[in-house]
Amino acid sequence: MIDLQHLVRPNIRKLSSPFQQGDGQPESPRRIALDANENPYNRPLNRYPSGLQHDLKARLAKLKGVGEKEIFSGNGSTEIIDLCYRIFCQPQTDNAVAIEPTCRLYGHFAAVNDVEYRPVPLSHDFQLDADRLLKACDRHTKLVWLCSPNTPTGNTLEVKEIEKVARTFQGMVIVDEAYTEFSKQPSFRQRLEEFPNMIVLNTFSKAWGGAAIRLGVAYAQEAVIRLFDMIRPSYNLNLLTQEQAVELLRHRYDIEDWTRILLLERNRMMKAFESLACCERVYPSSANFFLARMKDARSVYNYLAEKGIRVHDCSHEPLCEDCLRITIGSKAENAEILGILRYYNPAE
Ligand SMILES: *Cc1c(COP(=O)(O)O)cnc(C)c1O
Repeated sequence: MIDLQHLVRPNIRKLSSPFQQGDGQPESPRRIALDANENPYNRPLNRYPSGLQHDLKARLAKLKGVGEKEIFSGNGSTEIIDLCYRIFCQPQTDNAVAIEPTCRLYGHFAAVNDVEYRPVPLSHDFQLDADRLLKACDRHTKLVWLCSPNTPTGNTLEVKEIEKVARTFQGMVIVDEAYTEFSKQPSFRQRLEEFPNMIVLNTFSKAWGGAAIRLGVAYAQEAVIRLFDMIRPSYNLNLLTQEQAVELLRHRYDIEDWTRILLLERNRMMKAFESLACCERVYPSSANFFLARMKDARSVYNYLAEKGIRVHDCSHEPLCEDCLRITIGSKAENAEILGILRYYNPAE
């Protein structure tokens, strides 16, 4: 059992009872709205959007098989990552533990919030060792960051090791599943009842093709979601985002098609990379990108950049020396990068 109240920062704990977000109330009909200093002109953009996002959450709940009250939506997962620190971590006192290498946002927002960040290296095949990670935790560790499928490595973390962390660690475990749609591994979203200390992150920015609308979603037990709702900026999800997200959810079969095509393309690209002279090794992937170890990552990166093709150079990250992370593009884009790399000649 975790003691959620005890985990929350004292100043946030105090907010809880009397304070209610103005936009978190069930909407009572406003026949004439003269209460919020809005402008009566320029409909429909003149009104503050619903803070409860009922339509969006109802659709998500149905599609994802969770309760509406187990959903929090943020201005991208990026906002949710920041909010996790602000709810749970006392600056200069608490710390967060994370796998390494992984998404850079966890370390960035630790620094922003003046919270100590403790990266624990994955094994050489990029796997999580629960015991090793748990050893880095102490009584001031409030958050553990796991990412599966992980970036930039592309692999999923072993379910058994994630379970072990979640069952043993006495703080919050965040499982960032930004790439879950590309993976065969079932989402931890389905197991919230088992793990009261788990927060699962999804995003509209990757498989859903909605990076521009900035929408991230956290799934957790209701008591945890209430904490996010207590401290989020009012109206954090703008009307245009809510409308566009509902539109995407209506077209979810398109998203399944895109995902299928991207996975086929990924496998084709990975095979092609394996046969390139400049490539040493391609790592297994469960995402819409893959990690490739090159003979000389920097020079391949520069060669591609000169031709206007940008890939992600992760050679400076631990365990990723000479590695490039390549996102799967459209068929034409993939064909182009392969064509250009076949002409790459480092001697020139
Ligand atoms: C892209 C990404 C994010 C950020 O998602 P947004 O919803 O666009 O803010 C978070 N975590 C991981 C692992 C990502 O790859």
